[in-house]
Amino acid sequence: MSQDSRIAAIDVFTVIIPQDEAYLGALGPGELVNNAGYLVRRGNRTIYPAQMRSAVVRVTLASGEEGWGETYGLVAPAVIHALVSDIIAPIIAGRSPFEVQAIWEDLYDLMRVRGYTGGFWLDALAAIDIALWDLMGKLTCLPLHQLLGGKHRDRIPAYVSGLPAPTIPAKVDLARSFIDKGYKAVKIAATASYDGVEREIAALREGLGPDIAIMLDCHWIYTPAEAVALLQRLAPYNLYFFEAPCKTEDVSGLADIAAHASIPIAAGEEWRTVFDARPRLEARAVSIVQPEMGHTGITQFMRIAHLAQAHHAKVIPHATIGAGIFAAASLHASSTVLSLSWHEYQHSIFHHSASLMDGKLQCSDGYFALPEGPGLGISPNALFWENATKLG
Ligand code: MG
Repeated sequence: MSQDSRIAAIDVFTVIIPQDEAYLGALGPGELVNNAGYLVRRGNRTIYPAQMRSAVVRVTLASGEEGWGETYGLVAPAVIHALVSDIIAPIIAGRSPFEVQAIWEDLYDLMRVRGYTGGFWLDALAAIDIALWDLMGKLTCLPLHQLLGGKHRDRIPAYVSGLPAPTIPAKVDLARSFIDKGYKAVKIAATASYDGVEREIAALREGLGPDIAIMLDCHWIYTPAEAVALLQRLAPYNLYFFEAPCKTEDVSGLADIAAHASIPIAAGEEWRTVFDARPRLEARAVSIVQPEMGHTGITQFMRIAHLAQAHHAKVIPHATIGAGIFAAASLHASSTVLSLSWHEYQHSIFHHSASLMDGKLQCSDGYFALPEGPGLGISPNALFWENATKLG
């Protein structure tokens, strides 16, 4: 190995992401921003910062070549910096990005005995992993999709996620506006269905016709029995999938729901590794997996996708709030997965993420473009640097 291609430095940044309004819309009754800048959404009982942000890592080789990675940095991004600077950077200094999968496994093993098989530790590994794959692409002058074995498609079908509008007719109109542009699938969240899930789904099916895919994200709010009853009531509307109906800890409950369902059950946005996917696929609890690149990194995203294919399950990746780096990685990886039918399109976020990157990070007319060039094919631009703060 050339001395020049050894890992020399790792830096962590937190990046503010421009936004039009608070994520998930205006604050509801009883939703207040606390002194630390966070609010809790009552619908899904989840904490969010008032200002969207992400955690970005830069891995620099002795040659000066830079690779970019990113993980979920919405809450406590300083934790990612502490894990990288205290544990990861000293351990992988001097190694080559071409050892990316060995490095992931070496790092994962460091903390297993302490129970760190998920959460922030795996998020930090995801960011490093993406940066090392980016470096491999730059050193070989190959796009990530070629390093992963080759693409099946030049553009990725996008489904529209979330219809933030105050009334049911306004939601149908919003959905129609996307369909008129070429999109063929929309998803709503049960936690934001203030007029009732059944009424909203019924209105969407009537307003959009039989050929549009309609999906429902339940955000883990139902018991298995409630979920089965809801599925029966929604049967006339022919949903494309039913996502995260019960608590993520309840694998047997999810399998029970799947056994009673006549449509696919989807889950996976909160998983970090193939070890999260395996028991659910083996139990036939899911027939669609939704890996989130910001949590999995490229190595585990691909292992989850390949295990899903081995179980004849589909892959429909999740899209979360980020600076555009893990989004680019997710699109490259998605182009290589045969059993992929859509990729989530967070229309209220994606163009803000893309505004921070140089490169072809675009979604229009129902499809994501595939970024071009070596590695991820994107890199931080001037607006990114205006919004970035180096940690440590
Ligand atoms: Mg979801």
